[in-house]
Amino acid sequence: MTALRSAADILHDFRVSTPSSGPGRYYAICPECSHKRKKANQKLKCLGVTIDARGCKLGCNHCGWTDGAFYQTAKGTSRAAPVMSEREKADKERAEEQRRRDLAASRSKSQWLWASRKPLKHSIAEIYLRECRGYRGPLPPTLGFLPARDNHPPAMIGAFGMANETEPGVLVIGSDDVTGVHVTRLKPDGSDKAEISGESAKLTIGLDNDRLTMAFLAAGEPSQAAFAVVSTISAAPAP
Ligand SMILES: [Zn+2]
Repeated sequence: MTALRSAADILHDFRVSTPSSGPGRYYAICPECSHKRKKANQKLKCLGVTIDARGCKLGCNHCGWTDGAFYQTAKGTSRAAPVMSEREKADKERAEEQRRRDLAASRSKSQWLWASRKPLKHSIAEIYLRECRGYRGPLPPTLGFLPARDNHPPAMIGAFGMANETEPGVLVIGSDDVTGVHVTRLKPDGSDKAEISGESAKLTIGLDNDRLTMAFLAAGEPSQAAFAVVSTISAAPAP
C-alpha cells in the first residue's frame, strides 16, 4: 500500500505553517532563510505555498528555496519528490514486489488461456465477430475461441504481446510472447456478448500498459486500420 500523506503532514515535515491546509495559495515564514534575516524581517511571509489536488509546492521569494511533495508517491518524479520515512519505503518496496508477483501470475494465466484457445473459424466467436460485430475481413490469428468450461461461458480471446508478422499484414503471437489477453464472454449461440449480472462481459488478464492496450484494442476491434496499429506496436521494442 502506498502511504498517503495529507497536506498538513507535508507542511509539518517541512516546518511550514499556513493558516489552513486546504487547497489554495498561501504565504508563510520560510524555514530555510527567515531565521537568518534581520529581526524586523523574520516575520515576513516570503514563502509561497501552493496546495492542490496532488500535493504541496513551496517556493521562497527571498532565498529561492523550492521543494514540495505529493500526497501519494508518483513514479519518475524528480521535482517535488515525496519525503518518505524508512517504514514508508519498506511498505512501498513490499507493494512493488507484490505487484510484480501478481503481474507474473496474471501473465502466466493469460498465456495458459491463449494456449487453450481453439480456432476462431467455424466457432461461435466467428459468428459473434461476423454477425454481431459486422467484421468482414480475414480472421486475425491474434484472436481465438475459448469453449465453455466449468462456470465460464464460451468466449472470444484476443492476445496482446509481441506479434510476429509472418507475411505482410499477418500477425502471429506465440504463447510465450503473450503478455496479456482480452476475453469477451459470449452467449452460447454467439449472437452477442454474454449478459453477466454486475460485471462486464469483457475482461483483461495480464499486462495492460498503454502501448499494449492499443494492441488489445486492435485485437478486440478488428479492422484493417486496427491491425496496422498492431503492426506498429509489434515492431516496437519489448517493454
Ligand atoms: Zn527562504
